[in-house]
Amino acid sequence: MFIVFIGPPGAGKGTQATRLVDYLGIAHLSTGDTLRAAIEQQTQLGRRASDFMQRGELVPDEVVNGIVAERIEQPDCARGCLFDGYPRTIAQAEALDKTLDKRDTPLDLVLDLKVPDDELSRRMLARKREDDTPETIANRLQVFRSQTEPLLDYYEERGLIVSLDGLGTPEAVFERIKSCVDARK
Ligand code: AMP
Repeated sequence: MFIVFIGPPGAGKGTQATRLVDYLGIAHLSTGDTLRAAIEQQTQLGRRASDFMQRGELVPDEVVNGIVAERIEQPDCARGCLFDGYPRTIAQAEALDKTLDKRDTPLDLVLDLKVPDDELSRRMLARKREDDTPETIANRLQVFRSQTEPLLDYYEERGLIVSLDGLGTPEAVFERIKSCVDARK
């Protein structure tokens, strides 16, 4: 299965994505994780992405589209892939559609994890990531609303969206995710 996982920063996507890829036996493609690893290894990609990430802005589309196009050719993506934190703009969604069409493996499902804003800020401040300062958090939420939320309409038109309540224990949220995925298998 090829699945896109959409949710605002702090919604718990990372935790749920890890469980879901184990459950389905598919690859986990997190552009955020790839970028953080590149920064740590001080690669050219890391140097290019670092300032954007510190400010809570999006890294340019062509950079993340390049990461995904390369990663999806790896053998572990043959059975499917969970896109976590990608796409985040309409241009990225169009690029992903093209990449997947070429391989004849279209998207099966788009999971939309819903969590209210006050709970998002609380969760992000608790996890202490380098880009989780109050200013960056506010900016990332605003970027999500303006650039990523329009994707919900994009995928709704294609009949791919399933919205889920992201409140509750990680176990309870995962049970909801599992039911959606099982229904689409
Ligand atoms: P995440 O771990 O998914 O919350 O991503 C952390 C940061 O990495 C974001 O705030 C962006 O700066 C950058 N990033 C991750 N994925 C993308 C993407 N698909 N498009 C643009 N920037 C991204």
